Amino acid sequence: RKQLFKLSTGSKALDKLLGGGVEAMSITEVFGEFRCGKTQLSHTLCVTAQMPGPNGYIGGKVIFIDTEHTFRPNRLKSIAERYNLNENAVLDNILYARAYNSEHQSELLNIVGCKLHEEAGVFKLLIIDSIMALFRVDYSGRGEIFDRQHKLGQMMSRLQKISEEYNIAVFITNQIASDFKSPELATRPIGGNILAHASTTRIALTKGEGAIRTAKLLDSPDLEEAEVHFLITSGGIDD
Ligand code: ATP
Ligand code: MG
Repeated sequence: RKQLFKLSTGSKALDKLLGGGVEAMSITEVFGEFRCGKTQLSHTLCVTAQMPGPNGYIGGKVIFIDTEHTFRPNRLKSIAERYNLNENAVLDNILYARAYNSEHQSELLNIVGCKLHEEAGVFKLLIIDSIMALFRVDYSGRGEIFDRQHKLGQMMSRLQKISEEYNIAVFITNQIASDFKSPELATRPIGGNILAHASTTRIALTKGEGAIRTAKLLDSPDLEEAEVHFLITSGGIDD
């Protein structure tokens, strides 16, 4: 039987909200406006995934698919420092790929699939930051939404399969709608029903004062809808 592990976000409050952390064999999505901490959370997970955790979790390698060119090795160094880890070892354990368009993003998942097959059990976390950015650009026309959602659906079902077959956590970031006049609609994640249904756990992030951020859990299959506060620090996500 596969061991179902959970990865720490760096914040005890956020881990508790998630019932322990970001779960293996499922897709966790965070969404929210710019600077709310999606990329910082992704970076923190790159480090915590490499550390031993509860239930005999021994840590493992990470795959990072970067669509917005916001991956920062220097950030990883200061997060590694917080946890007293060797910064070069931490960087060596991250397989990094930059995606240039949505088709490339999809092709990268083929390579990821091969890699996970070749090095069974080595990788524990796959991050895509962000899932929709390239789709949004590639399918920007009015008549293209159907095609976009079709391709998105294919990608999400592949991610789900990958997470289950190789027992890894899939962590994706997402943006919110910015083309609506109503403030209510402007807090909605993009990607429509396809993404909503594909993500096992959805977390809405909002900005507070200074480094304070709020995380709200949405449509989790087995956890209460609640919200917590966390901080963005030089050592990554913290309480
Ligand atoms: P976007 O939608 O633009 O991609 P995001 O949700 O990914 O935004 P992040 O880049 O994760 O946002 O978060 C940016 C925030 O993190 C900023 O408020 C910034 O001040 C903070 N931040 C970045 N680096 C550090 C650091 N070294 N120490 C403390 N805070 C930092
Ligand atoms: Mg970002």
